[in-house]
Amino acid sequence: MNRKFKECNRCGKVIYYGNAYVSINRNVEQGEFIIATNNVEITVIDSEEIIALCGSCGNSFNAAIIENIVNSIPTDDSNIRNN
Ligand SMILES: [Zn+2]
Repeated sequence: MNRKFKECNRCGKVIYYGNAYVSINRNVEQGEFIIATNNVEITVIDSEEIIALCGSCGNSFNAAIIENIVNSIPTDDSNIRNN
């Protein structure tokens, strides 16, 4: 029997453990270039889930549209670009 993990924040559908889902998060990250491996490593210092969506709801979003919406939210005078 599948156990409930969470509910889709948009449609309310139950998301069970083991199901893939889409989450939109606010991460505080720090990138470092590792000379020894010639790779970039990103450390997530803090992560907060903003919204969790079932596959159907989550896959209906276009990431570029979400970026435009976030950029249009005024927080102070320094980051208002699209108003
Ligand atoms: Zn949904």
